[in-house]
Amino acid sequence: MVLLGLPGAGKGTQAERLARALGVPHVASGDLFREHMDRETELGRQARAYVERGDLVPDEVTIGMVAERLSRADCADGFVLDGFPRTVAQAEALRRVLDRIGGVLHIVPLVRVSEEVALARLAGRWTCRDCGAVYHDLFSPPREAGVCDVCGGGLYQRPDETPEAHRHRLQVYKEQTAPLVEYYRRAGLLVEVDGEQSIEDVQADLRAIVETACGGR
Ligand code: ADP
Ligand code: AMP
Repeated sequence: MVLLGLPGAGKGTQAERLARALGVPHVASGDLFREHMDRETELGRQARAYVERGDLVPDEVTIGMVAERLSRADCADGFVLDGFPRTVAQAEALRRVLDRIGGVLHIVPLVRVSEEVALARLAGRWTCRDCGAVYHDLFSPPREAGVCDVCGGGLYQRPDETPEAHRHRLQVYKEQTAPLVEYYRRAGLLVEVDGEQSIEDVQADLRAIVETACGGR
């Protein structure tokens, strides 16, 4: 499955829980870029300026990175994709990758929130440096300030968590990613979920959708 939604809609939060419940990997293109940037690989070096500005990394870099991840053995029984595709070219590339690895896209939930809610969520987001778990200082705080509940790692604010980058990312979404809503609606795969509910209620809606679309898988 592919999760769609504005930056800050809660895709990562939901994808992590869903993937754990389904026993499949959570593949987040943003996490893959951050890992490459931390390890200072060539790909990380190419991506850094785009990520920090809130621009999309060019398709030719992004598609290769995600295709390689989806081709690994742990994705053979399925995966939850978050943050990819973000352009129609990436959606077409995903179709080719799925054809190659014998996969089927079952469902594309759109986690719908207003821009105001997305901005408020982005403004308070903290991310674990070690495991990537996300928190919010008001809506979903860790038990101990600055410390990840899951792994005890330190929390940090991503370098693209500035008000300018947030506004820019919403604009980029409208221009380059929003067309995917129609793309997947026409394919009969899109299902809308009210993302302004609590984390638990959004998760319950997503589980029900997955149950219907994939018989629990
Ligand atoms: P995305 O992956 O779509 O950019 P995240 O999952 O990183 O979004 O969530 C953005 C921020 O909003 C995080 O700080 C997260 O803790 C918080 N958040 C996510 N879902 C909810 C929710 N349903 N209610 C309140 N806060 C939420
Ligand atoms: P995210 O963690 O999904 O918010 O992504 C963080 C940043 O990584 C984005 O603002 C982009 O710069 C880059 N990125 C993540 N996924 C993609 C993608 N599918 N296509 C292009 N750039 C991406």
